[in-house]
Formats: sequence, structure tokens, C-alpha cells
Amino acid sequence: MTGPTGVEDLPPLREVIARHGLAASRALGQNFILDEQLLDRIAAIPGALDGERVYEVGPGPGGLTRALLRQGAEVVAVERDRRCLAPLAELGAAAAGRLQVIEGDALAVDEAEAVGPAHIVANLPYNVGTALLVRWLGGEAWPPWWRSLTLMFQREVAERIVARPDTSAYGRLAVLAQWRAEPKLAMKVHRSAFVPPPKVMSAIVHIVPGPRPEGVRAADLERLTAAAFGQRRKMLRRSLQSLHGALEALDRLDIDPSRRAETLSIEEFVAIARELGRSEPQPPR
Ligand code: SAM
Repeated sequence: MTGPTGVEDLPPLREVIARHGLAASRALGQNFILDEQLLDRIAAIPGALDGERVYEVGPGPGGLTRALLRQGAEVVAVERDRRCLAPLAELGAAAAGRLQVIEGDALAVDEAEAVGPAHIVANLPYNVGTALLVRWLGGEAWPPWWRSLTLMFQREVAERIVARPDTSAYGRLAVLAQWRAEPKLAMKVHRSAFVPPPKVMSAIVHIVPGPRPEGVRAADLERLTAAAFGQRRKMLRRSLQSLHGALEALDRLDIDPSRRAETLSIEEFVAIARELGRSEPQPPR
């Protein structure tokens, strides 16, 4: 955005934090980013907003929110820490109606209803971030309500999301993130960029929805990857033996049952899940 956005001349974030007594809470996983240039770079990740509506989870004192508003976005933000509501209200006043804040737990928000089509951007505590990621990427409905995800993770989790086969990072998260979406490592972020600095390095992953493979249910793929990676060192003939129809599916697809889960491509997982969906589940004994 080139014109004035109303949020150019705000006081420094450190000052806002001091004035509102926002000492970072460990229980809420608070590690704030105060470097506005870095925040602007995050908000400018290609495809993260496209000048559209953004759903920000965990705005805290509003550093990333400012950067999103500076880019011209309209932001709906959900924050659990009541202490952050006053500084966010100040930011909302400066942004003249472009910021709506929902107080509460992001895990409890009915997003399609409360937010509607939007890009999701978040710097979240890692446990909440992974739970939300699994929710956003899961389910049978596709394309999803969100346009893209731009999310900060612990670097090791980010690497698991974008991992390729035949690597130790490749597992359930990689298949979940890649079978009908395209994740990319967008930016590495040093631990020293946060206040207070966490123990680990971080990275931002940008994910856009892709086409949904025909005839595959997310639930079948989930059962398959849970079994396959639950015993990732075992050959498929062992790890998949209790999954009804799986060994027959390998046979039909000409996949060698002596292979291990981490050698299977995303396309092979998808093909096996499609076969599983075709075979009737056995009634419980
Ligand atoms: N976005 C800010 C930044 O980049 O500096 C703050 C990031 S801080 C890592 C995470 C934020 O998420 C905190 O403000 C915290 O209060 C909030 N938060 C934690 N759990 C949450 C939840 N379940 N729902 C909504 N917000 C949550």
C-alpha cells in the first residue's frame, strides 16, 4: 500500500508494552517480535495477504498486526490475553475500522463463521500452532475456507512440514501438508529476534491450497499415515498389517511391501489411501 494507512506514526512497541504492563507470559507462550523492519518483511511475504482480509491468531501487543495494516490488509485478530486488548484497541482506532479483535482461544473460534475467506497469518505458541495447523489442513472439505497460511514454527517443525521422502523429517505432518497443498519455507527467523528469546530457532512456512486428488478421503489418508509412521522403521507389510485392505492395496499398486514408510512418495500415499477407500471396512468383531 502506498498511501497513508493510519499506522505509520505509532509509538515504538517497547513503549506500548511498558505502558500496558505486558510482561511476556510464559504460560501463554509469549515471545514478542519488536523489530518493525522484520515484521514488515514477514507481512510482505509473497502471497501472504494479497491486499485481502487477514485472520491473525495471537496478535499480542500488535507488532505483526501493525505490519499487516501497513500493507493495507483488513485484519480480524483473535487474542487470548486480556491485557493485550487495550493496546489492540488503540491500534484499531489508528487503523480506522480495519482491525477487528476477538477475545478468546483460537482453538474455540468458528472461523468460517467469524472470519470468512481470509489469509491466515500467525506467530503462535508452538503447541497451539501445530494443533491449529492440523485442523486447518485436515477434514474432508476442500478447498478450505482460508486462502493461505503464513505461520511461524519452531524450525524443526517447519522442516517436518516441507520434508521430502527419504529424510528423517518426513512423516505424517509432511503428508498432511503436501497431499493437497503446497508448503514452502518462506523465512528463517533467529531466536534473538524474539523478546524473550526462545530456546530454539524459528521459521515461517507459507502454505497455499492445491487441487484435491480425486477419490481420496482425508480420513483414510490419516489412518494410513498413522499406521505407517507409527512404526516407521518397520517394513510396510508389518506396519500396515492391521489396516484392513492395506496389504491388498500395496499388491494392486505394485508397491513393494518390504519398503518403509519414509520411502513412499506423497503420490504413493494418496494412491494407497484411494484404494483403502474402495475396500469396505470390516465390521468390528
Ligand atoms: N504476534 C505477536 C508477535 O509476533 O510479537 C505475539 C506472538 S506470541 C509468540 C503468541 C501470542 O499468541 C501471544 O500474544 C499469546 O497471548 C497468544 N495466544 C496464545 N495462545 C493463544 C490461543 N489459544 N488463542 C489465541 N491467542 C493465543
